[in-house]
Amino acid sequence: MSLLIKNGRVITASEDYIADIFIEGEKIKAIGKDLQMKAGETVDASGMLVFPGGIDPHVHLDMPFMGTYSSDSYETGTRAALFGGTTMVIDFILQKQGASLQAALDEWNSRATGNAVGDYSFHMAVTDFNEHTKKEIKHFIEEEGISSFKTFMAYKGALMIDDRQMIGLMEEVKQQGGMVTVHATNGDMIDYLVAKHRNEGKVSPLYHYLSQPEVTEAEASERFVDMADYTNCPGYIVHLTCEGALNAVRNATKRNQHVFVETCIQYLLLDASLYQKDFDGAKWVMSPPLREKKDQDTLWAGINQGLVKVVATDHCPFKWEQKKMGEKDFSKIPNGHPAIEHRMELLYSEGVNSGKITLNKYVEVACTNPAKIFGMFPRKGTIGIGSDADIVIFDPNEKHTITASSHHMNVDYSAYEGWEIIGKVKTVLLRGKIAINDNKCILDKGYGQFIKRSKVKGMI
Ligand SMILES: [Zn+2]
Repeated sequence: MSLLIKNGRVITASEDYIADIFIEGEKIKAIGKDLQMKAGETVDASGMLVFPGGIDPHVHLDMPFMGTYSSDSYETGTRAALFGGTTMVIDFILQKQGASLQAALDEWNSRATGNAVGDYSFHMAVTDFNEHTKKEIKHFIEEEGISSFKTFMAYKGALMIDDRQMIGLMEEVKQQGGMVTVHATNGDMIDYLVAKHRNEGKVSPLYHYLSQPEVTEAEASERFVDMADYTNCPGYIVHLTCEGALNAVRNATKRNQHVFVETCIQYLLLDASLYQKDFDGAKWVMSPPLREKKDQDTLWAGINQGLVKVVATDHCPFKWEQKKMGEKDFSKIPNGHPAIEHRMELLYSEGVNSGKITLNKYVEVACTNPAKIFGMFPRKGTIGIGSDADIVIFDPNEKHTITASSHHMNVDYSAYEGWEIIGKVKTVLLRGKIAINDNKCILDKGYGQFIKRSKVKGMI
């Protein structure tokens, strides 16, 4: 099976040129002007951008939570991702406190295996680090191809680990060649503020926001960065939202420490004024919450300064009925919002088209850096000879409107309802096969593969 993409404008994290791309099987075989190879199929990409498939390294599909599950399955979630030009996602396995990492991996595999349309991997969330868990780390990195270990500094009694466990985990992960990633907010401070607001009868979504002020994130980010420096363990902060937290990372760079920062599309585009809309604000209840306009400026600048390396989504959708579990108490609103489908198009429209970032930077933070940081480069994340043929053909001029009625995520509202954006995904290839064309998904569930990742370097 072979395919030739003709005359596209090829964009990678560092290049921008017009060329043909010849694909054989799952791989890119040749790139050049006027390629003469005979191909089974030819796609004309004149006037189009051609860039690597997006990688969203922060999603939660079919995740058990508060007696329910996030509403996108591996099938619906990875399919929606493909519609938006994201060919691979990294999901999170959550260890149950008191149980093994392996038990959690088995549980997640039972939901994911055979169901994904797009490619996927897992981060292993360690919620209980002890002598037993410690022995499993090496196996996960070397045998399972899972080299990143997520930690929570918040959600006490469920997911949170204390600093003693954090240091122990970092020392072991460092030794075995992995990375520790973190939800960096101060769990004790947040617990106190949540209880205080509930006691005062302040229960609307606005108080979700007011229970997680910027200082809770800035403090925890600095503490995480310091512990990573002390243990010399590669570190990655997920969904960083605000100026205070980014300053902690900026300070760390002054001692030549490498800490990776991920933000999410919503923190660049949406702000906390949405929580003023009574219970409608529940659509954007997530942790950390949306912040201020000044934080958006900080994050865009952080991308251009090279401090913010990745733009992800933290996609964790819940239908409106599920969100209503917290109608009388913000602390019972399932946390998360849907974004897996629109990350690439939103970042293009609001980032590249509006002049905030370059096309190369766009590819870097949405495709290339996630592959480099998490041990998949150059198989994934770029357009190069020998790489997987994960390719997006993108019309930079087509305008369209985001609505819940036309999206492909399994959720009955859109966090970006009515947004008119410019730039649209036209054709998507995943490992050499056409996945999306003419607004249709051609691949079936089960095509998506679990991608084993290698050890990480801790700098890119
Ligand atoms: Zn998350």
